[in-house]
Amino acid sequence: MREFFSSLLKPRVEALGLEIGSANLKLVELSGTPPTLRGLSIRPTPPGLFQEGNIADPQALANELREMLAEIRTRKRYVVTAVSNSAVITRTLQVPKMAAKQLEEAVRWEAERYIPFPIDEVVMDFAPLDPLDSVAEGEQMDVVVGAARQETVASLVETLKAASLEPLIIDVKPFAGLRVLEPQLVGDGGRELVTLYFEIGAESSALVLTRGERLLLNRVINLSGKDFTAAIAKAFNLDSTAAEEAKKNYGLATIPTEDEDLLLDFDAERERFNPARMYDAIRPVLVELTTELRRSLEFFRVQVGDLGIDQGFVAGGGSKLRSLVPLLADTLGIPLEVVDPWKNLSYDKSRFDPDYLRGLAPEFAVPVGLAMRGVGPID
Ligand code: ATP
Ligand code: MG
Repeated sequence: MREFFSSLLKPRVEALGLEIGSANLKLVELSGTPPTLRGLSIRPTPPGLFQEGNIADPQALANELREMLAEIRTRKRYVVTAVSNSAVITRTLQVPKMAAKQLEEAVRWEAERYIPFPIDEVVMDFAPLDPLDSVAEGEQMDVVVGAARQETVASLVETLKAASLEPLIIDVKPFAGLRVLEPQLVGDGGRELVTLYFEIGAESSALVLTRGERLLLNRVINLSGKDFTAAIAKAFNLDSTAAEEAKKNYGLATIPTEDEDLLLDFDAERERFNPARMYDAIRPVLVELTTELRRSLEFFRVQVGDLGIDQGFVAGGGSKLRSLVPLLADTLGIPLEVVDPWKNLSYDKSRFDPDYLRGLAPEFAVPVGLAMRGVGPID
């Protein structure tokens, strides 16, 4: 009898977190509450498997995923994953307050105006931003809607199934990344902090503002790691692999001081990619990125008024470009730090090297956030 009840009370099956990124495939296994890290794996996404946010070769991708599952030696087969930013549209809509039952139809009807594909070809989900009972009768309520093309979701599901994986939840990347910050969104005395989250991926970037856990703004910015690589490729006449290498080794977002310049050992590579030339190559992308960020924040300020952003976090591998984080903090006038997705996890330090994890913190914000949903309460 006791056994029977303990199995009834057991939480539902735990799921892995998987991000199929355009640059990296990332897999995370967590278990229990509070969550413990059981396994992780990252490997480059083979070129050509992914095109414009869509999976171009499901079988080849499934082979990679199978190898990753073997690598972390997990028997779990349920996954929480996400669609790429370019394949999903999220919008905050207003609908009159109504009962949950009628909401779906009203949201679908309203969403049709904002979604650039035929509504019967999309997979859609939505969530009210505030508890229903906090909205007065007759008032409008804010609802966030996510929509992706059916064929995008179908090819994702096909890939997962080919790797013997069972999708449990398909999430939106920036919301997953934000999940690792949840405990930090509320300050002393329960004050809801205004938080900026900025993720710079390989294919796209996302800007999110929240007050406490409540979403205020969510925007995809089409400037990311790949644009820095492309700028370097063009300036130095390199192919994308060589440009990627040069970016990681010599890329930088601010003009180095003379002292730093002198500190560099002299060799031919360093001379070729010297800081001044590197900065010249990258500068146009930086200008575009900071302009775009300022514009988004300004747009928001006009709509909502001055917010007073309390704290800012950056994530995504693209944020690793040398001196980019301090540059963004300076231009935006907001304190920024790199997200630490390991902060609220326990892990065995003899299995996972803390320095290794720290080095991969930006890349793992999204996959850890996905994995957290896989061990969290049912929603
Ligand atoms: P997306 O989610 O946009 O599909 P992804 O999740 O595959 O992309 P990440 O794993 O977060 O991307 O990060 C990969 C990106 O980070 C690449 O563009 C890569 O060039 C960039 N990157 C990684 N390390 C560095 C570095 N040291 N300097 C500059 N850029 C870096
Ligand atoms: Mg990513």
